[in-house]
Amino acid sequence: MMGEQTTTCCQICENWKGNGFYLLDAFICKDCEHLMVNTSPDQEIYSYFIERLKERRMHSYLM
Ligand SMILES: [Zn+2]
Repeated sequence: MMGEQTTTCCQICENWKGNGFYLLDAFICKDCEHLMVNTSPDQEIYSYFIERLKERRMHSYLM
């Protein structure tokens, strides 16, 4: 396969993305990063992100 891009499953939106960064051991895509930086901690979406990450970590501990 030519021009194959490495993609990683985003821990927030669960889409496979090539661009993003790691927050601890969780991959977060550019889109979600953008959402996060534009979200203040008092907004509901922020706690959604945190919950998602915690959930993920729980799963990896159990498995
Ligand atoms: Zn994402």
